[in-house]
Amino acid sequence: MEKEAILIKGFLDTSFVDWPGKVCSVIFLPGCNLRCPYCHNHELIFNSRNLKSFFLKEIMEQLINLKDWVEGVCITGGEPTIHAGLPHLIKEIKKAGFLVKLDTNGTHPLFLKKLIADGMLDYVAMDVKGPLDDFSYHLSAGCAVDVKKIKESIKILKASSLSTEFRTTILPRILPEEAVYRLAHQLKGVKALTLQNFNAADPLVPAFKNLPPYDEKKFQEMQKKVSEIIAG
Ligand code: SF4
Repeated sequence: MEKEAILIKGFLDTSFVDWPGKVCSVIFLPGCNLRCPYCHNHELIFNSRNLKSFFLKEIMEQLINLKDWVEGVCITGGEPTIHAGLPHLIKEIKKAGFLVKLDTNGTHPLFLKKLIADGMLDYVAMDVKGPLDDFSYHLSAGCAVDVKKIKESIKILKASSLSTEFRTTILPRILPEEAVYRLAHQLKGVKALTLQNFNAADPLVPAFKNLPPYDEKKFQEMQKKVSEIIAG
């Protein structure tokens, strides 16, 4: 396939925080198959027609210009694995000598498995929305989710030698403390489970703006306990 034929909708940013310990560029891809009520990337999901489109060649030129000080590229969304062209994008990025981090919600385990098997990824951060049962997942993801697929993605990442991280956004209304610890027990043995406190600035569901997050002290306590649980 010609490089120039690939059109990428989304945007490119340079960030110091998306990949712990590395300076990376971030490619945001539009669209998502979930509807998490706290999502603050909903512009990417619902208004992707307002985003600029880039030819892959343009993206690669911008990345190569940053090569002297950027080590890796984080591909995020939205949900990157809904795009059939993702392997081609990653291939071009790897060919240019960058490491690749993928952010995913874990709903496409076979796609993830193939990307790992083909040596396309160096780091995967998977969002786990809540305890691994249908009711909890539906509540956190804002839609029905095949939890078997989420479990399969967790299994794939647990078994892989890649750098991996699991992340969970917590807010008391959806994930009470007990549910967060239940999830941590279900993820026992993973390398890391990072909690992210709910950010009320611009959630997908406007009514969530009024919901209070965990206070900082409680949040830190929960992160400490979660790390202890997953370490066994
Ligand atoms: S927070 Fe949920 S809805 Fe938003 S991009 Fe991530 S998985 Fe999709």
